[in-house]
Amino acid sequence: MADTQSDQNIQVVHGTNGGYRQHLKSRTRACLACSDANARYQRARKILTGKVTTANLPITTVAALLEPGVDVPALLAEALTGEVLDAIEIRVAQLKGQADA
Ligand SMILES: [Zn+2]
Repeated sequence: MADTQSDQNIQVVHGTNGGYRQHLKSRTRACLACSDANARYQRARKILTGKVTTANLPITTVAALLEPGVDVPALLAEALTGEVLDAIEIRVAQLKGQADA
């Protein structure tokens, strides 16, 4: 959840990649929410550019996926966040398009 706070007269929207950049610009230590948002942004970018080809799931999530009757799409959506899932969908579509061509 993003929230705003004035850090040294710079409006920081915490929990976003823009907020992370504002932390850098204002030379304040990035809060956990902004650091997490930047990590998700970077991960999504690396997936989109093909620099990363794995989903990097925590082993507890992998174990949960192996349980019978688990809601796999819901569990993956919870584990990967929207922007990373979106990046995976886009990248897979790109790779399928290359395979079809
Ligand atoms: Zn922040």
